[in-house]
Amino acid sequence: MPKATAGPEIERLIQLLARLPGLGPRSARRAALHLIKKREPLMAPLAAALQTAIDKIEVCRTCGNIDSQNPCTVCTDPRRDPSVIVVVADVADLWALERAEVLNARYHVLGGTLSPLDGIGPQDLTIDALVSRAHDPAVKEIIVALNATVDGQTTAHYITDLLHDAGVAVTRLAHGVPVGGELDYLDEGTLSAAIRSRTPL
Ligand code: ZN
Repeated sequence: MPKATAGPEIERLIQLLARLPGLGPRSARRAALHLIKKREPLMAPLAAALQTAIDKIEVCRTCGNIDSQNPCTVCTDPRRDPSVIVVVADVADLWALERAEVLNARYHVLGGTLSPLDGIGPQDLTIDALVSRAHDPAVKEIIVALNATVDGQTTAHYITDLLHDAGVAVTRLAHGVPVGGELDYLDEGTLSAAIRSRTPL
């Protein structure tokens, strides 16, 4: 047994920080030390921000996004085009697409993708809510923006089948050569998808 170097309060802080994505035990110790040293300018406001998040942040009843207002800021923004809904698996994907600043649409967060091996079926995702949103006459296009993985594409096909009678155009993201990518470094699956998705110059 290694000897303890800190009291239980500090050990607990390190253990909790180590559960954050991207932080191992070593970086969690560094983060804990940094917080303790910056107690007033950083740790106290961080603790207050975490408490506010616990009190205020909830899941949007319309789209599944998370926000401190419900329906969320995205759903209630009148400048967004109400005719387009972008389907994503997770809030992180919504944030990623918003960073790209190419869409002016609303979203629908599924809460994951279908995964028979993990026991995740349609009832575990917000697919029913998506289908009823798609039947709103104002909605003209559903962009399925799911990962280019087996589960992502299985989910995309499932959704496309369900939306067949909804009177909306269902589109998906192109698969292919990433911006700045070199052909020589791409795997065969990406290359063949890029060839199949080729567009006129
Ligand atoms: Zn929303």
